[in-house]
Amino acid sequence: MSNDANCIFCKIVAGQIPSRKVYEDDELLAFHDIAPWAPVHVLIIPKRHIVSMADVTEAEAALLGKMMVLGSKLMKELGVTGGFRHVVNTGRDGGQEVFHLHLHVMGGPRPWAKG
Ligand code: 5GP
Ligand code: ZN
Repeated sequence: MSNDANCIFCKIVAGQIPSRKVYEDDELLAFHDIAPWAPVHVLIIPKRHIVSMADVTEAEAALLGKMMVLGSKLMKELGVTGGFRHVVNTGRDGGQEVFHLHLHVMGGPRPWAKG
């Protein structure tokens, strides 16, 4: 499994940095974001070090689909009933800060939202 020794998310995969895991299999890991933007905010990552959405090919299509479907499943398991967002930031101008591909899935009540 390719792994970048300087990557914070590879360290989470390796157990060198603790995380609040919500799901794990041989390909994917999901854990709570350390600085949530929403009441429920999980990150879903491939265990293999893929830098960003700019680096994926057709070969990753099934893996990416699995990440999206898992996001919806986890929101349900975590009790989110009113909707949620799937977000991927890509590259410097896309607001990406951690250069190991990750899907943000955010849900829960938004007290600041109108209506
Ligand atoms: P980006 O801006 O790259 O899309 O998002 C990176 C996300 O990773 C941020 O929401 C940030 O809070 C989260 N994050 C960064 N370092 C850690 C960490 O060590 N543990 C966890 N659980 N989340 C992290
Ligand atoms: Zn990595």
